[in-house]
Amino acid sequence: MLKEYKYIIVGAGLSGLVTAYKLKQKGEEDFIILESRSRIGGRILTKDHIDFGATWLQTYHTELLGLLEELKIKVFDQYSKGKSVLVYSSMSPVHYFEMDASQPASKRVVGGTRKLIDTLYKSVEDKVVLATEVLGIQNQGTYIMIKTTDKSYVGAKVVSTLPPLLASELNFEPSLPDSVQTAMEQTHTWMSNAIKVGIHFETPFWKKKGFSGTVIGQASPVVELYDHTNFEENTYVLKGFVNESLRELTSDARRERILNFLEKYLGEEVQNYLSYEEKDWSLDTYTSGKSLNSYYLSPQYGNPIFQELYYDSKLVFSGTETSETYGGYLEGAVRSGVNAFKLISNESD
Ligand SMILES: Cc1cc2nc3c(=O)[nH]c(=O)nc-3n(C[C@H](O)[C@H](O)[C@H](O)COP(=O)(O)OP(=O)(O)OC[C@H]3O[C@@H](n4cnc5c(N)ncnc54)[C@H](O)[C@@H]3O)c2cc1C
Repeated sequence: MLKEYKYIIVGAGLSGLVTAYKLKQKGEEDFIILESRSRIGGRILTKDHIDFGATWLQTYHTELLGLLEELKIKVFDQYSKGKSVLVYSSMSPVHYFEMDASQPASKRVVGGTRKLIDTLYKSVEDKVVLATEVLGIQNQGTYIMIKTTDKSYVGAKVVSTLPPLLASELNFEPSLPDSVQTAMEQTHTWMSNAIKVGIHFETPFWKKKGFSGTVIGQASPVVELYDHTNFEENTYVLKGFVNESLRELTSDARRERILNFLEKYLGEEVQNYLSYEEKDWSLDTYTSGKSLNSYYLSPQYGNPIFQELYYDSKLVFSGTETSETYGGYLEGAVRSGVNAFKLISNESD
């Protein structure tokens, strides 16, 4: 006889952990979180002081800022003083610009965005089952049966926080309405096609030369680069997004192209890096799924279909792509996590 949980949350990314944190705050103990990866955090991944996934938040991301404050996690301004570089094409002369100091800066999280995940995790550690991939969700009448690679779990209510495109690959029994299946298949997973690069240096040589560390170049090996020095200012990093056209190159060839490009605009010190790391999210099965779906440049998130409950109100879809506001962003993940908590626990504002 399987134990029946009151709640099962699928996915231990930000959205799932926020729902779990809220349940725990309410004094709820009867729930479990099933996570396919052998780590928590999903698209939040901080390694060697580098945020390879989510990094920035804005002053209008109020739910996220409120949560960070509640958890006593500090934020700081993205460094942007000095000359920023703009490269239109390899044929054009380089342009320089300065950030408008009167505009609010993007914020970073002290300790990296992972700090948020680790802090939420502390309150629900005993509820998370890692390395457990959910394969199917079945409506069994009074409860839902979750099939995983390993065994089955039973819950009275289930929250799926999978990016909708990944959820569309699950085996739903009975099938969900065609409109839901289609909506899931057509919802691009935010940033699933991104390739990030992080480069450590002995010193912040760019600052000493009057550069901010920002380099923008749509047709360049790195399309966006920023200073990623930590809050304590003792680890010096440049971090950015790699041009997707370099995806097919070998890692060595890509590194050479990137470093040579940056050397041209920031100086020869670039070649004296301490370490160079990349993360291609399109290769990550639990973010990108089977198909690389990078075509929706302005994806529409928060489809009303995801605001409905399914399987006689036992199944809720959550995760940043389902959020009616700020879908795709950390803010959307927090909002969807809070919303899912309210829906399953019948809490209102
Ligand atoms: C490169 C990159 C840069 C970004 N930059 C920013 C930024 O600067 N600012 C910002 O606000 N946002 C940014 N984002 C977006 C931000 O990371 C996401 O909005 C947020 O982390 C999504 O959280 P989530 O819980 O909704 O989804 P996810 O983090 O995707 O969590 C879903 C979880 O489900 C798990 N899972 C998947 N399949 C299964 C399965 N079958 N069974 C069980 N578990 C499964 C996954 O492993 C994952 O842990 C960025 C994302 C990336 C990738």
